[in-house]
Amino acid sequence: MNAGPTPDISLVIPVFNEEENLYPLVARLTPALERCGLSFEAIFVDDGSADASLEALRALCAAEPRFSALSLSRNFGKEVAIAAGLDHARGRAVVIMDADLQHPPEVIAQFIEKWREGYKNVYGQRTDRATDPKLRSFLTRLFYNLIERFGDVRLPPGAGDFRLLDRQAVDALLTMRERARFNKGLFAWIGFKSIGVPFEVDARAGGESKFNLGRLVRFALDGLMSFSSIPLKVWTYVGLAISVFALSLAGYYWARTMLFGVDTPGFPTLVVSIAFFSGVQLISLGVLGEYVARIFNEVKGRPLYLVAEKVGGEATDKNNSR
Ligand code: UDP
Ligand code: MG
Repeated sequence: MNAGPTPDISLVIPVFNEEENLYPLVARLTPALERCGLSFEAIFVDDGSADASLEALRALCAAEPRFSALSLSRNFGKEVAIAAGLDHARGRAVVIMDADLQHPPEVIAQFIEKWREGYKNVYGQRTDRATDPKLRSFLTRLFYNLIERFGDVRLPPGAGDFRLLDRQAVDALLTMRERARFNKGLFAWIGFKSIGVPFEVDARAGGESKFNLGRLVRFALDGLMSFSSIPLKVWTYVGLAISVFALSLAGYYWARTMLFGVDTPGFPTLVVSIAFFSGVQLISLGVLGEYVARIFNEVKGRPLYLVAEKVGGEATDKNNSR
């Protein structure tokens, strides 16, 4: 998107209805980066904002040649917005951060230090989740425990999207075009020399979190299903256990009938077991459905996102959407 020499650092910042945060963000970001003494560009990805975020970005990009913005054609979600930003980043390293100032720009200097030491995947490690509501932090913990037990990837505790990735790591990520994206898993999957940098999460500068409970649950399912096939396989064992139970029950009833003759008709047992086993079958079908739906989504091969407009940067190429 930008012409000119390759910058050292590209910032990728997903933006969804953050009009009141953009100016405060930039006011802290630019000095923090200039202190690092490296050249940089910032790519804001407007993820279909409905407020004045895009107007604010237009003004910011007009005033600062190192800023540019991509406006996606609708809201594609944070994971895809980040992918779009990575596609357009040119830097020798990329820093991903939120637009709501929960990720302090001052920490980037420490990321760069680690990068200079040779680390290619430097992640911010939040020291507490005190700013999150109770229910959310409970569910978050549950989710990470599940991934930890059953997932194919090891997620470092407290790591999120706030991180620096070396060009080599970014190029590895770019090869993964899956639609049901779970960035945290992808960041862990690519490997490379990694290290955490602890930081304290600030409260959101303005507005509120874009992730309500429903969205978080979908996100967690995406994460679990993209990085584990346990939900599919567990039914073999559930089925096996239930069959063994049913056989023993049959044996028991057979023996009892032989010894004591037929007694009550057993209507309640029948109703309960039919209901229970149809439930189990429907759950396992549902899990299959979740995976089939995901296969369907991937197989359609639609583009990950569509760019409606590119703003700023010295040379703007309007036809270059991937
Ligand atoms: N975001 C986005 N698309 C979305 C939702 C969020 O680009 O559909 C951006 C949002 O503007 C912010 C970042 O992702 O820069 C993190 O969002 P938020 O602060 O709502 O999440 P939380 O901090 O609560 O996890
Ligand atoms: Mg936030």
